Amino acid sequence: MGTPQLSVVIPVYNEEPGLPALFAQLYPALDALGKSYEVIFVNDGSRDRSAALLREQWQRRPDVTRVVLFAANFGQHMAIVAGFERCRGERVVTLDADLQNPPEEIGKLLAAMDAGYDYVGGVRRSREDSWWRRMASKATNQLRERTTRIRMTDQGCMLRAYSREIAAAVVASREVATYIPALAYTFARNPTEIDVAHAERAAGESKYSLYMLIRLNFDLATGFSLVPLQMFSMFGIIVSALALGAYLVVIVYRVVLAVFEGAFPGPGVLWDRDILAFFLIGTMLFGMGLIGEYVGRIYQQVRDRPRYRVEAVLERGDEADTQ
Ligand code: UDP
Ligand code: MG
Repeated sequence: MGTPQLSVVIPVYNEEPGLPALFAQLYPALDALGKSYEVIFVNDGSRDRSAALLREQWQRRPDVTRVVLFAANFGQHMAIVAGFERCRGERVVTLDADLQNPPEEIGKLLAAMDAGYDYVGGVRRSREDSWWRRMASKATNQLRERTTRIRMTDQGCMLRAYSREIAAAVVASREVATYIPALAYTFARNPTEIDVAHAERAAGESKYSLYMLIRLNFDLATGFSLVPLQMFSMFGIIVSALALGAYLVVIVYRVVLAVFEGAFPGPGVLWDRDILAFFLIGTMLFGMGLIGEYVGRIYQQVRDRPRYRVEAVLERGDEADTQ
């Protein structure tokens, strides 16, 4: 295989129903580019027959196909890191296995790289996902824009191209809970974005539940900035200041009342102490949870466990680094 011009990295998790269609569409699209390429599939511990299908495909096109088989499910982003670790191409393109990112768009990404950009992000113009996924994406994109220095229009789009150097920097980062497009962005010298098409999932279901999406956003928010932590202290300062102000108002009110009527107002005239208590408890819990997010990540990082375990790599035996 030598050094191909292009490496395509595709994470695969329980994609058995869609893989045949992916193979049928991907390879002709890549052949049409007229560039040397390799496709690296990373099977993220699928429980269906995905691994067997990937093996068949590798036997069909061993010249341009490599398969990394994880021993268990380590997540989409770890799968991409494993792909980055082994890719040999000068440029690396990531793609979802469900055909939501049309492989025909890869040419556009490469054209942008030809123009001198080292990081090309895709932006899904018409997104074919459920309305709640689109709403959630909008909100989390805004959150990330405000809290980090990372400027991406569509952080959820995985159709992206990276230079070899950026992919190598991502691998060298050794981060446990991370979000590849954002991490890679921090290493980019000259990033850009282009519009790409987006299709409905070809087959099977989304592998992301609402819970996993929320987790992913904590990875983004805490992994790339300390603003959530700082915002919380700011909020604490504001709440204390308001409480102090309200206290002064109450004192003045009571004094005035006592002077003119010789009586104190009953409790609950100005505020409801229960509501205030609930509000403060909620704020405290949220703050503690937020600190926990950071502490948990520090803990994970400090343990320094292997981020994933590769069971086998399917590739032609003519390479030295087969593990
Ligand atoms: N994926 C993975 N490991 C996981 C979850 C997902 O490798 O634990 C892969 C999945 O096979 C697909 C890509 O990541 O290729 C994106 O997943 P999906 O299409 O389910 O996400 P969505 O498009 O709904 O955001
Ligand atoms: Mg998808």
